[in-house]
Amino acid sequence: MPNNIKDKGLRYLKVLFVLVLTVGISVTVYVYLLVKSQNEKFLLQETDTVAQLLDVHTACSLHGDASDLDNPQYITLKEKLQGAVKVNPNIRFIYLLGQKKERIFYYADSEPEDSKEYSPPGQVYDEASPALRSVFKNKEPVTEGPIRDRWGVWISAFVPVTDKATGAVLSVVGMDIDAYGLIWASIANSAMPALATMILAILLTIYYFLRKRELQRIAMKAESVSITSHEIRSTLTGMAWGTELLKEKIEKKLDDEENELLNRIKNSSDNLLGTVNDLLDLHALESDPRKAPAQAIDICPILRSSLLNLELTARQKGIGLDFISNTKGVCIVADKEKIRRMFNNLISNAIKYSKPDTHVSVTCEEGRTSFVFKVTDQGIGIPEEDYQKIFQGFYRSKNAKDQTNQGTGMGLYYVKMIVEAFHGRIWVKSKVGKGTTFFVEFQRCPDPTNGSTHSAVSMAQKPKHA
Ligand code: ADP
Repeated sequence: MPNNIKDKGLRYLKVLFVLVLTVGISVTVYVYLLVKSQNEKFLLQETDTVAQLLDVHTACSLHGDASDLDNPQYITLKEKLQGAVKVNPNIRFIYLLGQKKERIFYYADSEPEDSKEYSPPGQVYDEASPALRSVFKNKEPVTEGPIRDRWGVWISAFVPVTDKATGAVLSVVGMDIDAYGLIWASIANSAMPALATMILAILLTIYYFLRKRELQRIAMKAESVSITSHEIRSTLTGMAWGTELLKEKIEKKLDDEENELLNRIKNSSDNLLGTVNDLLDLHALESDPRKAPAQAIDICPILRSSLLNLELTARQKGIGLDFISNTKGVCIVADKEKIRRMFNNLISNAIKYSKPDTHVSVTCEEGRTSFVFKVTDQGIGIPEEDYQKIFQGFYRSKNAKDQTNQGTGMGLYYVKMIVEAFHGRIWVKSKVGKGTTFFVEFQRCPDPTNGSTHSAVSMAQKPKHA
């Protein structure tokens, strides 16, 4: 299978994948940090509230040793701390700390006296972190964590209790919440964007590989069609050449009927050769539309010769062909042969799907930077829901199939490919039972003198072609 498939869609998918991952990871990290910082803010606010509740005189009247146990101020303080923990179950510990000669000790904590985690008044807090010490020094509240001490791993907030008169830090209120709980809460909140990113990334990856496999399959099919077409072309060229030689040699010896037969063989092999060439052209365009040769060409003579070639077919159906142009020269950058095929396809479709004794008109309108060609008929029309499908290949509308079984549904696919190879646009407007107009727009040739566009090729305007 060909592995080096170059496809715009696949490239966009890759870009989309990277975009989804980048945005998804950024949102996940953002939500994680947001929840974490909100929790820390909440902790600080709660600690501050408790600090506000504390009576400054309480802190002053405590000694920070076993003698406090009988002090009514201590008992009230203890009740307040325990009450605060009860009100908010997320909070594990609240405590009041003091400092004497660089040593941090407990005044009181929220633990009952029979708890293993209870710290009696005066117990030294050896694990005091630099952040906690900085609160005594700088008088600024801080949060820190996760930090580990003998009781567990915590996110902590420390708020100073200051003497308003002197500004001195009397004590510090500390509050701990379980660090793992907070981290899990942050992870749980960011799980949604992380999950959505993962699902999207997986779906995109699956779609990417399915699409790649499909493209590889199409490329293989096209490759084998191309190889077969080359084989058929060389055989057909030999046949056409042989028939031509044979005709030259024995033409005079044959009667009219035999000559007619020989002509038919020659015409059929020529037609078949044309179809095979179309197929090979289509394959080349499909493989790389940018490789189509292009030069400044005048479209009017091409259009006129197309109309002339199809005149007989049209006349047989009683259909008149008109060519109306509001411009003298129609210069676009494209390949003559491909543009001829494009018009042949559009005009022969218009004739094929026209009602007898009607008109098919081709018009060219000159815009500021582009030309718009319209091929209009008064035929069976195209249902609106088929506007896209008819350009996708192997598709024929029901009303077209009802009218004739001649058609492959590949003509417009080829036309669209040609139009896009030369950076044009094609679209259709139609009314079922009333008629259809195909619009094709191409940019004008660039003007070499001033960089703008112009109609470089002069030609006589021919308002009517019948
Ligand atoms: P086909 O060989 O069937 O004509 P095309 O690719 O040229 O294939 O066109 C695809 C389909 O578009 C047709 O089968 C028909 O349904 C519709 N179509 C194209 N041109 C016209 C038109 N001028 N009027 C009505 N239907 C059209």
